[in-house]
Amino acid sequence: MSVLVVGSVALDTVETPFGSVTEVLGGSAVYFAAATSLYTKVNLVGVVGTDFPAEHIRFLAERGVDTRGLAVVEGQTFRWVGCYDYEQNITQTLDTRLNVFADFHPTLPPGYEGSELVFLANIDPDLQYEVLSQVSGARLRVVDTMNFWIRGKGESLSRTISAVDIVIMDESEVRLLARSQNVIAAAKSILEMGPRAVIIKRGEYGALMVSDTDYFVAPAYPVAQVKDPTGAGDSFAGGLLGYLDQAKEITPQALRKAIVHGTIVASFTIADFSIDGLRSLRRADIAHRYREFKRFTHFDDKESTS
Ligand code: AMP
Repeated sequence: MSVLVVGSVALDTVETPFGSVTEVLGGSAVYFAAATSLYTKVNLVGVVGTDFPAEHIRFLAERGVDTRGLAVVEGQTFRWVGCYDYEQNITQTLDTRLNVFADFHPTLPPGYEGSELVFLANIDPDLQYEVLSQVSGARLRVVDTMNFWIRGKGESLSRTISAVDIVIMDESEVRLLARSQNVIAAAKSILEMGPRAVIIKRGEYGALMVSDTDYFVAPAYPVAQVKDPTGAGDSFAGGLLGYLDQAKEITPQALRKAIVHGTIVASFTIADFSIDGLRSLRRADIAHRYREFKRFTHFDDKESTS
């Protein structure tokens, strides 16, 4: 099986209290693909300019990511400039340059339309919708977005959200989209738009899933050093969909485990800048943290006999 992703492929400039990087590999689709490729085959859809270093495309190809859907066109690659202060749950965007994404209309290469799981990573919601309409047979459609699109393209975003199964968003963005301070009330009003579940990313506090029939909360895996939170959300989604694709079933139980996988992959991403925390990551490293996570979150509810 395989997972299709459409999203940004970017050159990021990021500053955190622990350092800074300039024009490094980033983008929502890249973080997602770097994470998902640990589990399954990824079909990537996006666009870069002729200035995009070939070594980045090689990196993706070496991980088994199908990059036939990554168009290279005349012009500049998408660029994003962001920073974080010690309150690392809050991303501050300093600049967003859509560049070649401004005129991009995706056409899926042969074979992509058979992808069973589809992730619409953070990008223009009109582009997300264009891709969605080309994979009508998908078993699971998941969307992520951010304040830039909620504020700038609200109506297009509502159309995309109403056509998917799961919405994954940051806590502050869920509040912004639903215009509600209360996160649970906000999630319920997003469910009314059509999706079956809303997964809320809460940074260092973990993730929370709300559906009509279920509620699940997972803490973040505890890490003592967070160098750069960029891409945590996309690699969370990557671990989640990668696990689901491999598990071959989309049951409430599988979804819970998938959320834990997402949480664990994200815990590696944030340990370094760009995708460096994922470069040498192996499934055995994920399995190790998964076992620890189980232990950290377990409690025995049998009454004490003493
Ligand atoms: P995350 O930290 O997981 O939310 O995602 C960070 C990635 O999103 C960065 O690598 C950026 O290149 C990318 N990004 C930032 N703003 C946008 C935007 N408006 N549309 C698409 N991608 C973006």
